[in-house]
Amino acid sequence: MQAGMIGLGAMGIGMASNLARAGFLQGVYNRTQDKAEKWAKTLACHHYVNISELAADCDVVFLCISTDTDVLSVVEQIQQAAKPGTIVVDMSTVSVKTARKAAAVLAKKQISFLDAPVSGGVEGAKNAKLMMMVGGDEDVLDKVKPLLMAMSQRIAYMGPTGSGQATKAVNQIMAAGINQAVTEALSFGQTQGLDMDKVIDVISGGAAGNWFLQHRGPTMIKNSFKPGFKVALHHKDLTICRQMAKQQELTLPLLEKTLQDYQDLIAQGFGEEDISALYRLQQKPK
Ligand code: NAP
Repeated sequence: MQAGMIGLGAMGIGMASNLARAGFLQGVYNRTQDKAEKWAKTLACHHYVNISELAADCDVVFLCISTDTDVLSVVEQIQQAAKPGTIVVDMSTVSVKTARKAAAVLAKKQISFLDAPVSGGVEGAKNAKLMMMVGGDEDVLDKVKPLLMAMSQRIAYMGPTGSGQATKAVNQIMAAGINQAVTEALSFGQTQGLDMDKVIDVISGGAAGNWFLQHRGPTMIKNSFKPGFKVALHHKDLTICRQMAKQQELTLPLLEKTLQDYQDLIAQGFGEEDISALYRLQQKPK
């Protein structure tokens, strides 16, 4: 099975590199062409200048792009060009509604769709250690599993189309709370005159240890917020989660606080920074 990758952002580059390493990558497409040209050379694969050619050539089309609108617009282009029997796997984080809409558009041409959002950050994408949550037809998942294994440490089948994205929504709400807890605690730690690298090291080994503390703690205490995962993207995810909660008449206080904080960061020009930039707000006197 030959695969094409659409989207060579922070996540897509690692994913494409691992597909290439495993011998599955036919070619890449990126909206900003020079990025695709550079990576096609590095990965010794084809550089597609448009989505239609990639879709027509490949058995499996992977996407990892920014928002719901982007995914639906790319899916429309794939539908026009791909052969019946092609499998589209969307690894972006979008809404359940978008996943279902994409599946319906593609089904009109007997093209299968899996929603397969991931967790594990850019480090997980680079080191093929992603945790993948998949919705769709389980038989289709079985067909593409060898390709997904090239990028992931675990692939979990969650149920029908949209179940992967619903699971990812749970993850994103939890990530908001972890971001609040870690940035608040480390900001407090700095007021205590402690060696903060040592604090992060010791806490990482105990019950309060977590991925975000371990991977973003050491950089945030140096006021370095290179993405990683952009504030604007987590803001997009939490907006989706808020809509889902609203449908169930739920209010989620941690989500609401984090959305407000991210809005403040975006207004201050920090939307393209890593989500650990929340640390900026924690340092301000309340
Ligand atoms: P990113 O670095 O901002 O990259 C976004 C990619 O999407 C770029 O390749 C961009 O192309 C492409 N793109 C955006 N709009 C497009 C459109 N209309 N048509 C075609 N391509 C388009 O984002 P990322 O961090 O890789 O995240 C990608 C997705 O994965 C998002 O849904 C995000 O929520 C999710 N995610 C991210 C992380 C993380 O830690 N970063 C973890 C899990 C999931 P250009 O180069 O032309 O801008």
